[in-house]
Amino acid sequence: MKFTTKVQLLSLELGLLLPVTATAQPMQATPVVLRVSLFDDAGVGATTLREAAREASRIFLPANIDVIWLQLPQDSLAQTAFGRCSEASFPAHLHLRILLRSHGANKSVVGMSFLSAEGKGCYADLFYEPVLEMQRENHIGAAIILGHAMAHELGHLLLGSNSHSRYGLMRAQWNRDDLAQAARANLLFSPEESTRMRSRFTRDDPRTETAQME
Ligand SMILES: [Zn+2]
Repeated sequence: MKFTTKVQLLSLELGLLLPVTATAQPMQATPVVLRVSLFDDAGVGATTLREAAREASRIFLPANIDVIWLQLPQDSLAQTAFGRCSEASFPAHLHLRILLRSHGANKSVVGMSFLSAEGKGCYADLFYEPVLEMQRENHIGAAIILGHAMAHELGHLLLGSNSHSRYGLMRAQWNRDDLAQAARANLLFSPEESTRMRSRFTRDDPRTETAQME
């Protein structure tokens, strides 16, 4: 399956809140913050959207990336806890838009991310009708599938071009076993992918790549 997402990340300057001795801690111990504005143009609904966001957040935790969701439906999440949606910026604030279906792509495509020539992107779309079809075929909840698709597309935006892998969350197509792993919370980013995503928050990426849509 194909996915595209957009995400924004923000670095937390937590060191300012810690005693001086805390600076001796390894860099990996400091989480970075990824802000994601989520737009529900497909009418997914608050409950499913909240569960999907929780799934995606869990997937990013081993990478030490904390996801903050912005402008989710008011009845599903406290407005004060998530703030307002603002303009996208790489890598700290990315945008995900959920549509019913893709216009132009194969109808089985679940997501699509948009990357610049430098291999960076802030925007991705997700398509809900293919998610529901996968739910019917595999008897796995739509929120679980959607949450993994959101994480997959955010992964594209943070990892850059040609970021599909042979195994795990970033496979181009998930088979039945992958979805079973997803239902068990075992479909994840690899350690190498996690390191690469985090590196986007800590230094400029020198790569220059061809624009692509996947
Ligand atoms: Zn993909």
